[in-house]
Amino acid sequence: MSLMKNNFCKSKLKSVLCLVLALMCVIGSLAPISVFAEKSLEDLRDEYNKLEEEMQENKENLSEVQGEIKDNQSKLDKLDSEISDIQKQVDILDDRIDVLNSDINSLNADIETITAEIANINTLVAEIEIQIAESEELMADTKEQLLARIRENYMAGGGSSLELLFSSDDLSSFLARKELVDRISEKDSELMKELESKIVELNSNEEKLKTQKIELEAKKEKLKESMTTLTDRQADLESSKEKQEEKRQEVAKKYEQVEDIINQLDKDSDEYKEAIRLQEEEMKVLEAQIDAYIKEHGSQVGDTPDEDYNNDGKMLWPVPGSTRLTATYPAYSDGSRHMGIDIVRTDVTTKGSPFRAAQGGEVIIAMNDGGWNYGFGNYCVVDHGDGTQTLYAHAKTLYVKKGDIVQKGENLGAIGDTGNVTGPHLHFEVRVKRGDSVSRVNPLDYVKKP
Ligand SMILES: [Zn+2]
Repeated sequence: MSLMKNNFCKSKLKSVLCLVLALMCVIGSLAPISVFAEKSLEDLRDEYNKLEEEMQENKENLSEVQGEIKDNQSKLDKLDSEISDIQKQVDILDDRIDVLNSDINSLNADIETITAEIANINTLVAEIEIQIAESEELMADTKEQLLARIRENYMAGGGSSLELLFSSDDLSSFLARKELVDRISEKDSELMKELESKIVELNSNEEKLKTQKIELEAKKEKLKESMTTLTDRQADLESSKEKQEEKRQEVAKKYEQVEDIINQLDKDSDEYKEAIRLQEEEMKVLEAQIDAYIKEHGSQVGDTPDEDYNNDGKMLWPVPGSTRLTATYPAYSDGSRHMGIDIVRTDVTTKGSPFRAAQGGEVIIAMNDGGWNYGFGNYCVVDHGDGTQTLYAHAKTLYVKKGDIVQKGENLGAIGDTGNVTGPHLHFEVRVKRGDSVSRVNPLDYVKKP
């Protein structure tokens, strides 16, 4: 698998092509019954083993693809949480922008109010200025009339301070002169005083309004400064939000890409599953053909039973082609009880490979129903008539039935993975009868590795 990983796409494509070709061959070859009839049992088994090997490869590819789907799913989950983090940021920014907007709105309202107040003051000042101008004009007229009247008096009586009077433009100093006041009438004098005080009052009002206006202008300036700060801040927030939105779009794009990958992988996975399903169907057909063949012709495969070695006290190694042990007598590597030896094939696929009678004898037990059978699954026991028995367990299928007489080396069945197993292997036991009881002994004392 580790080699395949580097080269996954290439080898995956290759294996799919191989699979299609293989299926075409199988389907094509199975169609005519006559072809099946001419096939030998060995051919059928070869075909079966080949199919099983290809299926194994497809299963490996499938688990690879499923692993990739899982990886990508977790990538998707990560991106999902990234997107929701970004969304949270955007929400926070939105809240801040909302607050800022309402601040800006109320500031705008304040500025509008002040602007209106200033406009109002401007109008008032303009009105007062008109009034002052009118009053000043009226005073000038009155002054003119007074001067005219004084001139008349002078012509009539004359006076020493006349020079001074004519050189004076200042109204109050003019009025202050007692001798002149005496010469003007009571009515004129009051009118002048009234005008004077009105002008003073108007001037003072104008002064007040102008001061108020200056204060309002200063206030308006400050509000405008606050406004600039707020709008700057608003621009900052908007740009942050924009950045987050961009980031979200990027992540969403990545998300889509990973989704596409997962969709493609799902498709691949479905294809592998379909291929495996078809192979399983074909294997069932082949199994039925093998069973039918054996019923008609007997197993006839493997080493020809050798009369010379039949019941000679030397047992034959039960799995031709391999001496690889995955567990020995009397315990597994973890220390738990194991009363036989487990043998697997390393040269070809273990499952479906034949196993043979270690010694000639009578089949006294043959369970081929696919049941649990104490964990043995499909199994058989051969009694060798010399006080020894051999047991063969976890068979895919048995070629013998109870009561059959088998020769040493005769194939008893195909290795499988029925019963309590973690993988296909032959569980082989040697049993020795002692009186009425049967004890299980170390098979390696009876069979030697070839
Ligand atoms: Zn075992």
